[in-house]
Amino acid sequence: MSNLDLHPDVSVCGGRGAVTAEPVRELIAPRRVRLTESTEVRRLLPSLGRRMVGAWCFVDHYGPDDIAQQPGMQVPAHPHMGLQTVSWLLDGEVLHRDSLGSLQTLRPGELGLMTSGKAIAHSEESPAGHSAVLHGAQLWVALPGADRHTDPAFEHHAELPVITSAGLRATVIMGEADGAVSPGTAYTPLAGVDLDLSPGAEARFPVEPDFEYAVLTSSGTVEVDGVPLAPGSMLYLGCGRSELRLRADTESRLLLLGGEPFEERIVMWWNFVARTGEEITQAREAWQSGTRFGTVHGFAGTPVPAPALPPTPLKPRGRTR
Ligand code: MN
Repeated sequence: MSNLDLHPDVSVCGGRGAVTAEPVRELIAPRRVRLTESTEVRRLLPSLGRRMVGAWCFVDHYGPDDIAQQPGMQVPAHPHMGLQTVSWLLDGEVLHRDSLGSLQTLRPGELGLMTSGKAIAHSEESPAGHSAVLHGAQLWVALPGADRHTDPAFEHHAELPVITSAGLRATVIMGEADGAVSPGTAYTPLAGVDLDLSPGAEARFPVEPDFEYAVLTSSGTVEVDGVPLAPGSMLYLGCGRSELRLRADTESRLLLLGGEPFEERIVMWWNFVARTGEEITQAREAWQSGTRFGTVHGFAGTPVPAPALPPTPLKPRGRTR
């Protein structure tokens, strides 16, 4: 999906030095953001006090929405640079088109992974004849300096590793967890795991002590490391755990995101991740002039125009503002 904010904030973050080695329990409340007339999302990252979790730099949670009589998601062509988009659905379908010519319907349990590298454009829509309910998450992973100018690519993985134990079913979406590895191409050590807990489940899920983690409650009522979490909220956990304690009162879905703390400072504006304000300015100009990012064919709507740059130069503000 896209960051369609008309006045997107600039965020600069990253660096192991800014991550405490001790476990923490820090609640992150969702912020409502209207993407288009028909789509509202809840943004968890970047948030006021937390910019990244590992290389995860953007987390939107949307739905469950009843879109039976509505167009649903209709996000026209927009560009990306310096990141990967990770599309994860709990209900419904999203039709992905991009400037490489990809045309792919994404369904629950499948990974849609778009590596923008140096430049790509894509659109996302609820296809004709879509399901009544749309529910999912749109995530971005920042690419490290060595790989951020790579060629763009799109991957669709319908088969992902699943780990089961009493009351718990874990699907490894990205990276590695409990010895299972996602087929999605990752450029930094990270983990993205969907956790499906049965009513009354008490479970311990192994995690990497050197990774920082956060958990998003997609649905249900759960306790994570003893902290009760309402649906749609996120708990930042920091580093230093070897397992995560989970307890569910009802059938619950969680998204566990983690990774090695991202060492590089990044500049993130609109749909771009860069290292300097100049790179952002150049990318914006390229999109506005119809160069560099290619063309998305088949989506009926007009491409999304880039918002105005902020009046002051894009400059670092620090990981937690
Ligand atoms: Mn997008």
